[in-house]
Amino acid sequence: MYDILVIGGGVVGGMILRELSRFNAKICLLEKESDVAMGASRANSGISHAGFDAKEGSLKAKFNVLGASMMPKVTEELGVKYKNNGSIVVGFNDEDMETLQGLYERGLKNGVKGLKIIDQQELRTLEPNISDDAVGALFATTAGIVCPYELAIASIGNAMDNGAELKLNFEVDKIETGEYFTVTSKDGQVVKAKYIVNSAGIYSDKIAGLIGDNSFKIGARKGEYILLDKESGNFVNHTLFFCPTKKGKGILVSQTVDNNIILGPTATEQDDKDDVTTTADGLNDVIASANKLCKKVPVFNSITSFAGLRAYSDRHDFIIEKSALNDKFYNVAGIESPGLTSAPAIGDFIANEVAKDLNLNKKDNFNPTRKADYFFKNLTNEEKNAVIKKIPEYGKIVCRCESITLGEILRAIRENPKATTVDGIKRRTRAGMGRCQGGFCQPVIVSVLAKELGIPYEQVTKSGKGSEINVGRTK
Ligand SMILES: Cc1cc2nc3c(=O)[nH]c(=O)nc-3n(C[C@H](O)[C@H](O)[C@H](O)COP(=O)(O)OP(=O)(O)OC[C@H]3O[C@@H](n4cnc5c(N)ncnc54)[C@H](O)[C@@H]3O)c2cc1C
Repeated sequence: MYDILVIGGGVVGGMILRELSRFNAKICLLEKESDVAMGASRANSGISHAGFDAKEGSLKAKFNVLGASMMPKVTEELGVKYKNNGSIVVGFNDEDMETLQGLYERGLKNGVKGLKIIDQQELRTLEPNISDDAVGALFATTAGIVCPYELAIASIGNAMDNGAELKLNFEVDKIETGEYFTVTSKDGQVVKAKYIVNSAGIYSDKIAGLIGDNSFKIGARKGEYILLDKESGNFVNHTLFFCPTKKGKGILVSQTVDNNIILGPTATEQDDKDDVTTTADGLNDVIASANKLCKKVPVFNSITSFAGLRAYSDRHDFIIEKSALNDKFYNVAGIESPGLTSAPAIGDFIANEVAKDLNLNKKDNFNPTRKADYFFKNLTNEEKNAVIKKIPEYGKIVCRCESITLGEILRAIRENPKATTVDGIKRRTRAGMGRCQGGFCQPVIVSVLAKELGIPYEQVTKSGKGSEINVGRTK
């Protein structure tokens, strides 16, 4: 019997699990996929928003501002890449400048620090590649960029190092209520718990529906992206936005924490909650908008495209509350943008609420830190030599584009939460994320996974059952 089950291994479920692991309690995360961070937390813009965008008094505004202020410490503790690069919302005419003034005032009401309206000249100094048509901007110095899947993986790993359990390939299919919850997966596994936190992203309405709670609906809004090679990594310095519209913050141009440039996302509502394909129309929209924001965007340096699904609710705000049907069942739903930014604050809030209900005490020995792996290529030659002397596998480069070593790949397979797929290795190490997108390193990674997991080469998958890479042996 668990004290608390968290359903959904994204950044929100991950942060909730991590905060719960500060307490003396038996806790477990249930995730339907073969790895964590495979939903919205895998594919988004990776911006730690300053917090001027959400309506004052909304949960989005409250958790965004709090989460953004927590982000530097949380990422430092978890060894996750974060950069306080600042964001700029660009105005192109008088109407936009009025909108920017409104955002500035809303930001002040939301408690955002470091906001200022800047003129055309200052904007050009900050961003030499900005469009000639730009007339001014709102500059938010507290905004940053963060790696979203790294944050989800690290928070879950840290929680596991502090005693939390993780069940992958556990698709919650049935929840029976009573003195405690009995949760059954699609393939018949059963677990029991006193409390449930539902943070199942785009499927959180379905999970709430399993206890008869149909008080909200979650829709899917696709966002498509193009990623540019590091060669263009200094094309912009800050995160550049258009003025927001009803559909969201629009297409942005930004650096990523790994020195790529990201263009996107689009915003298209769709019925299918699993379709993350990119489309020619979507990518053309991304290019057209990026070229309105900046001059001569180096789209020729594109190395990949991808899409993610925003989980928007029919209540138009985050839903963070106990279910009206069961006071031991928390819904954490409709967590669209700025959900990544808000995740540390949501985790803290939910963990403390549940701990109060269950009368939990804090552990004496909670360890908040999760040491980052040697990001080998960033070490000096002396440091590299010292590491190789200690662990010789760091002396073998596997991914040439990103200079990722065998040591880093082995650590990804052996450390919580353990990678068991090629994409799992990719999200933990960046092997396969460079210019050749895994063309050279994938066969080596498949071999390493087969050996470490003790399975045949043909059973190694890209991202779980049904995505086997090799169908058989020719010799
Ligand atoms: C295009 C786009 C751009 C965005 N940009 C930003 C940004 O720049 N800044 C920002 O702050 N936020 C941004 N966001 C929002 C942010 O990505 C999300 O708020 C955040 O990732 C949500 O995390 P989550 O854990 O709630 O959901 P998810 O990451 O989707 O996790 C939910 C998990 O639940 C699992 N699950 C579902 N059903 C079941 C089941 N039956 N049983 C077990 N597990 C189940 C899923 O497999 C999934 O892993 C963006 C989102 C998108 C899509």
